[in-house]
Amino acid sequence: MSSVYGGIDAGGTKFTCAVGTSPSDLRAEAQFATTTPTETIGRSIAFFKEQQVPLISIGIGSFGPVDLDPASPSFGHITTTPKSGWAHTDFVGMVQDALGIPVFIDTDVNAAALGEHQWGAAQSLDTFVYITVGTGIGGGGMVNGKLLHGLIHPEMGHMRIPHHWDDDPYSGCCPYHGDCLEGLASGRAMELRWGQQPDTLPTNHPAWELEARYLAMGLVNIICTLSPQRVIFGGGVMKQHKLLRLVQRYVQKLLNGYIQAHDILEEVDQYIVHPLLGKKSGVLGAIAMAAQFSR
Ligand code: ZN
Repeated sequence: MSSVYGGIDAGGTKFTCAVGTSPSDLRAEAQFATTTPTETIGRSIAFFKEQQVPLISIGIGSFGPVDLDPASPSFGHITTTPKSGWAHTDFVGMVQDALGIPVFIDTDVNAAALGEHQWGAAQSLDTFVYITVGTGIGGGGMVNGKLLHGLIHPEMGHMRIPHHWDDDPYSGCCPYHGDCLEGLASGRAMELRWGQQPDTLPTNHPAWELEARYLAMGLVNIICTLSPQRVIFGGGVMKQHKLLRLVQRYVQKLLNGYIQAHDILEEVDQYIVHPLLGKKSGVLGAIAMAAQFSR
């Protein structure tokens, strides 16, 4: 019997669960809103229990912060999240106890990066970044062929960027930092600043220029720090297609020709891209994680 894996893309707004081995072999999928840990993780467990094919292991790509240190007593727990009710949830433990198979975890953005590396826009690259701009902002990726972890894991959404007070009096929505990148440029920040959901803002609304400037400032810092070979932008806010083009333009403008890379100077539309796997990068990456660690 072929090996089949389970994947959970655990977002702060919704969970996606799937079983399979690759984009062309997804046997089942389910999606539901993120409510309480007991209910949401319970629904994921129920989905995997319904499957007829025995699962080898499960991979989880989770919103965070998450404790990824296998030596830590709180390994696999969601730690200090501002998301109500989820702090200190033993995510890995709950799934492992219920299903009795190995469970692996990483951040949602590292899982998405792994999915894009295996089957999407980052194939054959060894250093790249995946950034999601949705309700919040997160970033992960690979450096020299390894997913980035370090001390805990990157929190690219919380980097500090210049705040354009003159044309943006909004003070920011991050409960920890106010006007960090997430505080100024997440979907939540856009909604609070403009009084409407980002997907209802017309293409010519000034919101998009401001959004692109903030995202480009964050991205320029990442480019200068990690020297990624490509940057993948996913998440609901990026569905406004004009936004990616604006970010590409502002990145070129802010770097001002300093980084003499053909990819940035001449082919920025191939350098800053949408995920090739679309909304499925995360759940497919979680499946890739399960397969990789089970070998
Ligand atoms: Zn913050």
